Amino acid sequence: MKIIMLGAPGAGKGTQAKMIADKYKIPHISTGDIFRANMKNGTELGLKAKEYMDKGLLVPDELTVEILLDRVAQDDCKDGYVLDGFPRTIPQADVLDKELTKLGDKVDFAINVDVPDENIVRRMSGRRACLKCGATYHIEHIPPKKEGICDNCGSELVQREDDKPETVQNRLSVYHEQTQPLIDYYTNKQILKTVDGTKDMQEVFNDIVSILG
Ligand code: ADP
Ligand code: ADP
Ligand code: ZN
Repeated sequence: MKIIMLGAPGAGKGTQAKMIADKYKIPHISTGDIFRANMKNGTELGLKAKEYMDKGLLVPDELTVEILLDRVAQDDCKDGYVLDGFPRTIPQADVLDKELTKLGDKVDFAINVDVPDENIVRRMSGRRACLKCGATYHIEHIPPKKEGICDNCGSELVQREDDKPETVQNRLSVYHEQTQPLIDYYTNKQILKTVDGTKDMQEVFNDIVSILG
């Protein structure tokens, strides 16, 4: 099963993608996580990506498409995957579509996690992330067992640089301009499914499971 998660920054794509990956035993692939891992390791890709990410802008398609295609070509992706944060532009979606078509394959579902802009800033200001294992928490809604510490791996949780309110506004405009058009794109392909992302995490997940089957 090949699944794409769509939605504004902070809508809960990553949270749901992890739950999907666990239940359906497919890899969770987040381009944001790949970029952050590269930044942490100081790679050339990481340095380039940081310039854009810190401003709330999208990393150029040329850089992004290549890492994504490399990732989905790996062995663990044979039986499917859930993409979180890719595609974010129409050209990215076209490249994915072409690659899959070449393999006689296709995306099965594009899940749109719908959360209005008003809720987003609040979600983002409470988000805390583990840069070691990729786990995500929310200080009010989904707190870790021990404040500031990752339940999974015991590392210290941080607020992402790009989750500061100034940057969140930019990311929202970028989302509306460049990513939202994908909703029509996948509606036209008849694979778009929208879920109400304002419900609590478990309810959203139940709605997604009833779509995926
Ligand atoms: P969020 O979970 O808030 O949506 P992500 O972790 O998915 O954020 O992405 C963080 C940043 O990484 C984005 O703001 C963007 O700069 C960059 N990024 C991630 N995925 C892509 C992509 N597919 N195309 C371009 N830039 C991306
Ligand atoms: P995205 O990947 O779309 O940027 P995340 O999954 O990282 O979004 O979620 C953004 C923030 O909102 C995180 O702090 C997360 O813990 C929290 N969150 C996720 N889903 C919900 C929900 N259904 N209700 C409340 N908070 C949520
Ligand atoms: Zn962790």
